[in-house]
Amino acid sequence: MAFDPRAMREQFPILQQSVHGKPLVYLDNGATTQKPNVVIEAIDNYYRNDNSNVHRGAHTLADRATINFENARQSVQRFINAKHSEEIIWTRGTTESINLVAQSFGGKFIGAGDEIIVSAMEHHANIVPWQMLCERTGATLKVIPVSDAGELDMDAFASLLNSKVKLVSVVHVSNALGTVNPVADIIQQAHAVGAKVLIDGAQSVAHFNVDVQALDADFYAFSAHKVFGPTGIGCVYGKKALLDDMPPVQGGGEMIEKVSFNGTTYQGLPFKFESGTPNIAGVIGFGAAVEFVMAQDRDAVQAYEDELLQYAHEKAEQCEGLRIIGTARKKAGVLSFLLDGAHPADVGMLLDQQGVAVRTGHHCAMPIMDQFQIPGTARASFSIYNTKADVDALFAAIEKVKMFL
Ligand code: PMP
Repeated sequence: MAFDPRAMREQFPILQQSVHGKPLVYLDNGATTQKPNVVIEAIDNYYRNDNSNVHRGAHTLADRATINFENARQSVQRFINAKHSEEIIWTRGTTESINLVAQSFGGKFIGAGDEIIVSAMEHHANIVPWQMLCERTGATLKVIPVSDAGELDMDAFASLLNSKVKLVSVVHVSNALGTVNPVADIIQQAHAVGAKVLIDGAQSVAHFNVDVQALDADFYAFSAHKVFGPTGIGCVYGKKALLDDMPPVQGGGEMIEKVSFNGTTYQGLPFKFESGTPNIAGVIGFGAAVEFVMAQDRDAVQAYEDELLQYAHEKAEQCEGLRIIGTARKKAGVLSFLLDGAHPADVGMLLDQQGVAVRTGHHCAMPIMDQFQIPGTARASFSIYNTKADVDALFAAIEKVKMFL
């Protein structure tokens, strides 16, 4: 059966509102997605009925909270097809996930003279932690160049690889350009020189199936809030053997086995990396969100979203004075653009006046904006509940913006 975006939309209460007297057209999904009823209800239910701390209570509520919390880990495990549930480490989101790997894996396995490779289209979350690690250790950061269309230069990548490279960390789908990168190929080539690979999956998991075993990713990071879950929670997947070898980053409760002034021992996976009382409601909402996604016909959703993005691109190409930033052959979810003579911030403000929510600015990807010699873009980013009518509304609003400016 064909995917029905209108029935999907009904499940997101926030979308049923008007903004400035116009029906809300929410096209800022790259920043965060909206939440379906099942996610809101899972969080509500936890606080109404099950609220308790996890893992150490000897009472019914604590048992229920712990079961739901650990079930969510299994949901996320299934969502990305990890081999073991303890390979899923809860974090506050993609940013914290990457920092965890930089501090723990980087601190132990990367030293002076080693090299780390990122790409020119990375989000700051996948640049700055590596710069900080390089400053601490004397390692060097190398950058895969990006073409004018917004595609990785894979020949340049191949020439950057050598035995000094300990880690390659690249984005699966660029939040600024929408490019879908050939991560399976990147992982295979990096492994051939003995490097590990982290994939920033913040923008991918909401759009298509990710199978970390098929990709052979060493680490895979994403945030719940970009895949219909709550803010402040996310995870990093890591291969068990690697995570077992990595030291904890934060010390405290939950992550220890035995504490004494003669020496402390740590828990095994995943708890070694999860000190303190976790974001229990967030984890439960995250679990509900990935269950919600897994209940969809994902191939049908992906085909629908591809068609929608294609439709938006066709409209953009016909729109006089509009320049698309990011024209890679393989894209997902993102249409970044500039209007002749207009600052993106003004475009965003005038679109908002017409009920159309987009994001403007550098999208936390200043280096790629510098490469295009632009201060930023306006970015329409699409999700499962957007329709061709939303795209039409965007372009009708853009026509009005052009008249204003
Ligand atoms: N990487 C990419 C590609 C992103 O789009 C984002 C969020 N904009 C992040 C990392 C950081 O995610 P978070 O803010 O949820 O930690």
